[in-house]
Amino acid sequence: CLNEHQQKKIIYYSKEMTQKFVKSLKTVAKLTSAIKNDALEMYYQPLFNHEKQIVGAEALLRWNDPELGFVPPNELIKYAEKHGHTSELAYWIFERVFKDKIYETIPNVSINIDVTQVEQPNFFKTIQHLVKKYQVVPQRIILEITEHQAFQESPIAVKVMEDLEGMGFKIALDDFGVGHSALALLGKLPAHIVKVDATFITEQSTQTTNGIIAEHIVALAKHLNLKTCCEGIESENDATLAREIHSDYMQGYLFSRPLAIHDFRQFIENFTISDE
Ligand code: C2E
Ligand code: MG
Ligand code: MG
Ligand code: MG
Repeated sequence: CLNEHQQKKIIYYSKEMTQKFVKSLKTVAKLTSAIKNDALEMYYQPLFNHEKQIVGAEALLRWNDPELGFVPPNELIKYAEKHGHTSELAYWIFERVFKDKIYETIPNVSINIDVTQVEQPNFFKTIQHLVKKYQVVPQRIILEITEHQAFQESPIAVKVMEDLEGMGFKIALDDFGVGHSALALLGKLPAHIVKVDATFITEQSTQTTNGIIAEHIVALAKHLNLKTCCEGIESENDATLAREIHSDYMQGYLFSRPLAIHDFRQFIENFTISDE
């Protein structure tokens, strides 16, 4: 027999679980309808060289639900995966970016991809299909992957990335340096760009540990003939550091936040585009 306290606890617990379950069902329904009804958005954040010319842009997923509010892209990706919507979401992202066609005005656009997306059985075929459908030039698309997602432990994902690279896509190693196996990944994937994680650019000095790490990541990338981009440039000091360590490109709030497509189109009108 349960005492009163235990009974209350059980009732409370099951009620909470039911609420959680209902909420999660509702969110799944919202997500599937958001994908179907184009209620998601892609924002674009420009990348600059040291002459303040635009060299490209990164596409970033946005979901603002009237009820749920802003759902951070990382969480959205994980949530979609948990509920079996990885493929649909990936399809939506690629199609949106291919339709927006900003790579017709700037040299390239970067799309973030997740190892769970790449591992989907039809991922490569889907991309091939979309490339054909929207007449995309793969050379103008950069696929960004992070090393802390255990890409190197997924032979399937590595093979698909090699095939995509073979089609002409460029590959960027995102958030470089924060995981445990950044260097291992460098040897495994046919990368073109290294994006130095924002955490290394915070101390504004080549004399600090982070500054020294950033400098050596850039130097290593250059030895391997890769381009480099410093992420999270928020101040003139950050930009100075990026220049001092000879990073090719910069990205961050100092220049622009990620922008909705119309704002992005307006924003770039005031800048020179570098084709280099
Ligand atoms: P990421 O690929 O490293 O993207 C850069 C993140 O840094 C973005 O956050 C961007 O808004 C933010 N950022 C840019 N400049 C600055 C700055 O100066 N200061 C600070 N503090 N932050 C800056 P966001 O959009 O919230 O995206 C977070 C992460 O979610 C991304 O990191 C990426 O890993 C993932 N993500 C976003 N969109 C997608 C997508 O379409 N597909 C996939 N698979 N992942 C995505
Ligand atoms: Mg990225
Ligand atoms: Mg990053
Ligand atoms: Mg990041």
